[in-house]
Amino acid sequence: MKKKTSRFETKAIHGGYEPNEHFDSLTPPIYQTSTFTFSSLDEGANRFSGEEEGFIYSRISNPTVDALEKRVAELEGGEKALAFSSGMAAVSAALIGFTKKEDHILCSKGVYGCTFGLLQLLKEKYNIDHTFSSLDTPEEIISNIRSNTTCIYIETPINPTMRLIDLEKVASIAKERGIKVIVDNTFSTPYLQQPLKKGCDIVIHSATKFIGGHGDVIAGLLAGNEEIVTYLKKTAQKDIGGVLSPFDAWLLLRGLKTLAVRMDRHCENAEKIATELKKHSKIQRVYFPGDQDHPDYSIMQKQMKKGGGLISFEVKGTLEDIKKMVDQLKMVRIAVSLGDAETLIQHPASMTHAVVPEEERKEMAISARLLRLSIGLEAWEDIWEDLEEALDSI
Ligand SMILES: *Cc1c(COP(=O)(O)O)cnc(C)c1O
Repeated sequence: MKKKTSRFETKAIHGGYEPNEHFDSLTPPIYQTSTFTFSSLDEGANRFSGEEEGFIYSRISNPTVDALEKRVAELEGGEKALAFSSGMAAVSAALIGFTKKEDHILCSKGVYGCTFGLLQLLKEKYNIDHTFSSLDTPEEIISNIRSNTTCIYIETPINPTMRLIDLEKVASIAKERGIKVIVDNTFSTPYLQQPLKKGCDIVIHSATKFIGGHGDVIAGLLAGNEEIVTYLKKTAQKDIGGVLSPFDAWLLLRGLKTLAVRMDRHCENAEKIATELKKHSKIQRVYFPGDQDHPDYSIMQKQMKKGGGLISFEVKGTLEDIKKMVDQLKMVRIAVSLGDAETLIQHPASMTHAVVPEEERKEMAISARLLRLSIGLEAWEDIWEDLEEALDSI
């Protein structure tokens, strides 16, 4: 096996895959098979018992998916990773895996809409309670930990207000108490932020977003140490069953190759658009972690490489003005999701966060005048001209 260098950009292209183990195919083949054959009953028995390495059945493991998992583990600085059929399959595996009935989950104030829904479901069905907290001071974190708290679930940047949480601070408090820290790293990708290296236990992605990067796949990923990931594979993946297909794994392997260059461009474009938005007279407020005036700019510098590709902003005007503005856009597409080549705009209060009760939306600072942009890879001038023209029209 040839020696590899250890830099992120290189690992994103070469990690987890050796051509000479696959008929010298430069790119990982798509092993589109549901099952694998054994040459004898003994071999089959030995694979099941773990005495012999080898594939059995694609819900348990598959060579294309395996290459993806190995590459992601390297990129996150974890020992092992798992691929899921969606980001929510990864989120639910982590939350189901590390709670039992009557436990408590401490959460960042503001989580993805469907994660919010899942927390409600766990409460209704298994009496697993949760608390939302800003997690911004040790006192705030400690005072919200209960004797039955088994995990702390974090999004940073928080969708859609882009507040950040200091991962090292939370992880050190959790570690002393034996509580698992789970981080949804979708917005940052391992290129911008590596939570495992800050002491967190589990990192999750909706790989549908920046990792896939082309708006053509729904997928999830999870990484951590050997013990945690092996446990989750056995309990919350194999038997629940939300595994990724070989073709979708192949799309993610392909997406990862350009992750670093794409992220650089997403971030550069976002910095320019945020600067222009801040100067525009129709803009009330811009939420962008790469902005020096952002309340958590110092946390950004501490744990992120750059500010990311997402910007939220509040428009001055009525809901009618906002509708008019968005409907005028010619190039920017109205859609949820993020991390695609195309710039996307959405309205959290009526779309991604519509499931969150109004009272809690207020708590999360999601007003009806808030819009979220996922900055794409187009020429930034074209993105801005489209936004400026629409803003000028109200
Ligand atoms: C999209 C998203 C999810 C859910 O991922 P799916 O792939 O759509 O299941 C979870 N967390 C965040 C932050 C997301 O943006």
